[in-house]
Amino acid sequence: MPEIPDIRGRRPYIIAGPCSAESEQQLLDAYTGLAAAGRVDMVRAGVWKPRTNPGSFEGAGAQALEWLRRGRELTGIPFGVEVANAAHVRAALGAGADMVWIGARTSVSPFSVQEIAEALAGADVPVLVKNPMIADVDMWDGTVRRLVAAGVPQDNLVLVHRGFSRGGSGEGFRNPPVWHIALEMKRRYPDMAMLCDPSHICGRRETLAEVSQKAADLYYDGLMIESHCDPDAALSDARQQITPSALSALLDSLVWREAGTENSGFAEKLEKCRSEIDRIDSEIFALLARRMGIAEEIGHIKKDNNVTILQDRRWQEITERIVARAGELNLSPAFIREVLDAIHLESINHQNRVMNNRE
Ligand code: PEP
Ligand code: MN
Repeated sequence: MPEIPDIRGRRPYIIAGPCSAESEQQLLDAYTGLAAAGRVDMVRAGVWKPRTNPGSFEGAGAQALEWLRRGRELTGIPFGVEVANAAHVRAALGAGADMVWIGARTSVSPFSVQEIAEALAGADVPVLVKNPMIADVDMWDGTVRRLVAAGVPQDNLVLVHRGFSRGGSGEGFRNPPVWHIALEMKRRYPDMAMLCDPSHICGRRETLAEVSQKAADLYYDGLMIESHCDPDAALSDARQQITPSALSALLDSLVWREAGTENSGFAEKLEKCRSEIDRIDSEIFALLARRMGIAEEIGHIKKDNNVTILQDRRWQEITERIVARAGELNLSPAFIREVLDAIHLESINHQNRVMNNRE
């Protein structure tokens, strides 16, 4: 048995392999292709695939564990598989899997997580915890806590950000990333490795590099990425898989910068910018407070004249006027709308307070 993979110890740690285990030949081709690419620390393959649509290919099942063992023997690269129930855990551990991961569809289900956690207790393998389908940090955290409570050592846990389902298309992503939720998990578990799965975030090849670079810039520890020797013929997730040589090129294009440096002047330059940002933030909030003061004044005027708070047309005009300046301000229209919506809501609350209190 190879020793426990140290995912935190090597940045970037790269896990790659096909979405699903389809056949022995497909897996061995992937294994040898990835070994030749020379950049992969661990091979992944979905032996049992929880598919959204019944009737979709669900992986070759337990027989594929033997194929993965063969691939490991041939190349020396460890492998990991997805587990969605206790029987999967027993089969995977019994076959000597070097890692298991809990997928996004399982991470939302406390009973499933509980049985997986109990089956894993005592096993010394990394357990990757993908974020749940829905953007709820406490649910992701709950999966982690359930595993730890069942006796899975916290040191063996690794977080994987694979984006969140939005029940439709979101900014061109299959599962839009919510970086601040992942960063919040990093804040709660500073010693846990965090990987990014750009494949399930993007859902298509074209944007994998961009999302991977963003993860590198947010100081993720590595990537879990889907690779297939003949992506277009893949039985699942064909559009997001890339060949081992495309993977190699993608990895070559990424820059994994360090969190800090001893370079002279770096700290001072950064400090100068940061204090400027602190000053601007405090001005922004002072201005917002003044703006809310005026909203309250409007509340009094409306109250005295018996007029409703919400005046749609006026708000639409404000939004359009500022969004029209998006280019000049170098801010995205979506960001401007989000900020204005938050300001509007707070204004309404202030006016509401004035109108409903007998002031
Ligand atoms: C997978 O990694 O193949 C997978 C099913 O991922 P997720 O659980 O993130 O959808
Ligand atoms: Mn997949």
